[in-house]
Amino acid sequence: MPTTQTVNLTLPTPYVNRLLHLAGERGTSLSELLRARLGLVAGVCQACGCTDECGCPDGCSWSDDNENLCSRCAKFLEGRDQFGRLAP
Ligand SMILES: [Zn+2]
Ligand SMILES: [Zn+2]
Repeated sequence: MPTTQTVNLTLPTPYVNRLLHLAGERGTSLSELLRARLGLVAGVCQACGCTDECGCPDGCSWSDDNENLCSRCAKFLEGRDQFGRLAP
């Protein structure tokens, strides 16, 4: 199972243009800018907030290359939909 997935977003053109302008100003890419806006900081689990220094009580490791999801949360989210509900 892949640990990352590419999603397509539909956004208002003026907003995208603004983001592209900001990305150009900062010398970064649109995807990096969006990742930053989503708070996707490497080394912090996006589901529970654990880090290398402060992991889950029962121990965990990174489940993706970007270090945005720990193994414990990846296991929890497996088989669930985007709202965290158990898939039928
Ligand atoms: Zn986690
Ligand atoms: Zn964890």
